[in-house]
Order: sequence, then structure tokens, then C-alpha cells
Amino acid sequence: KAKNKNGNSYSFFEEQFQTLLGKQTELESDIIKAIDNDEIVAYFQPQITFDGNIKSCEALIRWFHPTKGLITPDIFIPIAEQFGLIQKLQNIVLKDICMLINKLASLNLINETYSVALNISQYQFVADNLKSNILSIINEFHIPPSRIKLEITESMFSQDLGQTIQQMQTLVSEGFIFSIDDFGTGYSCLSTLQTYPISELKIDKTFVNNLTQKNITALPIIETIINLASNLNMSVVAEGIETKEQFEALKDKGVDTIQGYYIAKPMSAEDYLIWHSQNS
Ligand code: C2E
Ligand code: MG
Ligand code: MG
Ligand code: MG
Repeated sequence: KAKNKNGNSYSFFEEQFQTLLGKQTELESDIIKAIDNDEIVAYFQPQITFDGNIKSCEALIRWFHPTKGLITPDIFIPIAEQFGLIQKLQNIVLKDICMLINKLASLNLINETYSVALNISQYQFVADNLKSNILSIINEFHIPPSRIKLEITESMFSQDLGQTIQQMQTLVSEGFIFSIDDFGTGYSCLSTLQTYPISELKIDKTFVNNLTQKNITALPIIETIINLASNLNMSVVAEGIETKEQFEALKDKGVDTIQGYYIAKPMSAEDYLIWHSQNS
């Protein structure tokens, strides 16, 4: 059995930790290779009204590893952040977004208000060059900031209030839109919610998932979020709609846009273009 420098056996925890560390280092070098080999792409999931009007879509990063298969963002985003690779990934997603928007525009499939949501982690949000980095890419593609919806989570609100507001304000003054992802699962201080320049709340999918024909106990919470948003002049997205039941339960409740497997799964840019043109 391995001994540490004090002559004691490594604890079970330390061994586990070393294994994890080994896996992470492997993943880190894999991510670097993946970036060079174009294994990482953005997928797109539509956001529509109950009437079926396509309003926007959300970009969701995908990694198709040559031997490990599909690796989900929940696994590699935290590692990319830890190793300073997140900006490279963000740029890939952003470029894919820009190419999609230009393609949709050239096919005359979108109006002025169509936007694409980009997920921004807490780590990315506090970066000094967030704005300049995003702007430099979208400018390259001649895309106005109003086409980009920045999805942040409530965790941002537990950070320094002044700094968070300032960061949001500089982005909003450029024309970017803010959406609060996974709303209702964090600990938003409701009294300060209205001080942030937020356009949209996304009701977390756990509330939607809990809705079935027999069980509507999640409905009061959902209705409360809808009221809150409407009182603060924000629009509401319900994410994670998987069934007709959930669709029906949310209809006429004041939700503006819906997203989920029931409407469409996240798709490659190519498939999204086909879906979009067939559904508009
Ligand atoms: P999120 O932003 O809350 O994205 C919604 C997640 O729900 C996505 O998982 C999506 O594929 C999944 N989803 C969509 N419709 C349904 C449904 O009807 N039922 C269920 N059960 N799930 C549904 P995904 O793509 O695995 O992404 C997970 C998380 O990873 C995202 O959560 C987001 O926080 C993060 N993420 C994804 N792409 C990016 C990115 O480009 N940058 C950053 N920083 N984070 C990203
Ligand atoms: Mg999101
Ligand atoms: Mg979410
Ligand atoms: Mg999330």
C-alpha cells in the first residue's frame, strides 16, 4: 500500500482523489485536442410560443469524443473552467451561433426580434474581457448584440451586488439581453431582483417535470414566478416541457415561450435549420 511522506497509508479518500485528478488531467488534455479537432459544437433547441411561433433558441454545447462518445456539458464545463479553457469553448459556441443566425437571416427565416441564448457560467461572467470577447466575435459576423440572450443563473446574485449590476449594465447598454436560467432553484433575494436589468426568467425544469395530470402541486410555484415576472416586466420561459400534459397544464397561465423535448430536442445546426424552416 502506498505511503505518504509521514509514513501513513494513503487514505481511501486520497486514493479516490488521485484517481479523480488523473481523470481530470486526462480530460483536460482531451479538451485541448477536442478544440483542435472540431469535436466540440453547439446544438440548438427552439423556444416557441404556445401558438407555435419560433421566438429564439438556446445554444447548448456538445462534445463528440472519438472514443468516449458524447460527453455532456455538466461534466466538461467545470473542468474547462478549472483549466482556463472555458473562453475557447465559449468562442466555439458563439461562432456557431453567429453562423446559424446569418444562415437563418439569409434564408429570410427570422425577424428583427429573433435571438439565440448563450449560457454564461458564473466563472465566465466575472471575467473582465467578457464583453470585449463577445463583441469581437459578433462584430466579425456583423451580428448586433440584441440577437444574443445571455443566460446567467441566480448564483450571480449572491456575488457582489454592485459588481454584478455593473457588469450586466455595461452589457445591456451594448444591447445584449439577460435571461435568468434555472429560476426558482437558487436563492434570489427577491428584494434586489428588480435592481438587475433582466428581460426574462426561465422557470427551472424541475418545476415543469413535477407537473403531471394527477400531480399539479408545482403549479402554485410556477404561477408565482409568472406573476413575479409579469409584475417586474420580464417575460417567462418554461424549460423542460416533455409531455403534452405539461404543455396543456402551462397553457394560458402566462408563460411566453416554451422549450423542451415535447417541442424539439437540441439539434445540430444543420438539423435546426431544417426544423426551423419546416416550422415557420
Ligand atoms: P441549462 O442551460 O439549464 O440547459 C437546459 C438543459 O436541459 C440542457 O442540458 C438541455 O439539453 C436539457 N433539456 C432540454 N429540454 C429538456 C427536456 O424536455 N427534459 C429534460 N430532462 N432536459 C431537457 P445540457 O445540454 O446537457 O446542458 C446542461 C447544462 O450545461 C446547461 O443547463 C448549462 O448550464 C450548461 N451549458 C450548456 N451549454 C453551455 C455553454 O455553451 N456554456 C456554458 N457555460 N454552459 C453550458
Ligand atoms: Mg440555459
Ligand atoms: Mg436551465
Ligand atoms: Mg444551468
